[in-house]
Parts: sequence; C-alpha cells; structure tokens
Amino acid sequence: MNEEELWNLLDEVMDPEIPVLSLVDLGVIREAKFVNGNPQITITPTYSGCPAMKIMEEDIEAVLQGSGFDEYEVKTVLSPAWTTDWITEKGRKALHDYGIAPPEQTTSDKNALLGHPKEVTCPHCRSRQTKMLSQFGSTPCKALYQCNDCKEPFDYFKCI
Ligand SMILES: [Zn+2]
Repeated sequence: MNEEELWNLLDEVMDPEIPVLSLVDLGVIREAKFVNGNPQITITPTYSGCPAMKIMEEDIEAVLQGSGFDEYEVKTVLSPAWTTDWITEKGRKALHDYGIAPPEQTTSDKNALLGHPKEVTCPHCRSRQTKMLSQFGSTPCKALYQCNDCKEPFDYFKCI
C-alpha cells in the first residue's frame, strides 16, 4: 500500500455523527504516511473535548486493522486548531445533500467567529430566510435552524 491508497482507505472512515461525511473530508485527518512501513495518522479534534473524537480514533484503528496492519500510530495534534475551512468541497456537498447546512465560509466575520452567521442557507430549498431556534442541535457541533420559507427545521454545522 502506498500513501495515496492509505488516504483512500481513510476516506472510508465516516464521521460518527454524520455518516455521509468522511473524516478526510471533515478535515480531521491532517496527515497520513508510513513510518518504517507502519501507518502513522495525525488527527486534529474539531473542538477540544469533542466526545466523538474517541470514536473517530477507534474507527481509524478498525480500518487499519481490517487492512492487516498490526502496528500503527494515531496521533492527536491540537495545533493548528481545526476550523470549518478545512472541510473539503466534497464534504460540504455531502453535508448539504444530507440536509445539514454546511458552514458558511465567513470565518473572518465576527458573527461567524461566535458560531452565529447572520445568514444560513436552507439545505432543503436554498432560501436565505432562516432563523436559529437553538444554539445546540442534535450535537454540540451543530445549531438548530428553521427555514422561514419551507418551514423545515435543519441542523447547521457551526463555524469554529
Ligand atoms: Zn427551506
């Protein structure tokens, strides 16, 4: 297996909370390489204390073991801190198709830094007329929004 194949393998590991979004597309997997023939994976948590990180680590270990690797290392690196800008285009599309509004790319905006962009696009009808119902959605990483046009509630993946 080469490094490209290692990345392809890791692309099969999905976010425990969002089964359509791979950890590669989420931007959590920072580095994947071989050290002395053994995989060394570097991950960065989406935010400190994210309860899903332990599951992500175990899922990565499971695919490595499934590919016959007995020796590997999964390292956690906290700096530079993960931001929603690390979510790939493919990841943003997967989120949208899943009915979760992808993070708006306005991290320089003060509202975005607080996790509350002024406008969030409805993933169902693409209306910009949406409002926040709750700062926390189904998980702490998401906020609950509702569309004023189609009235559908939806999760918004908060900017960090
Ligand atoms: Zn809508």
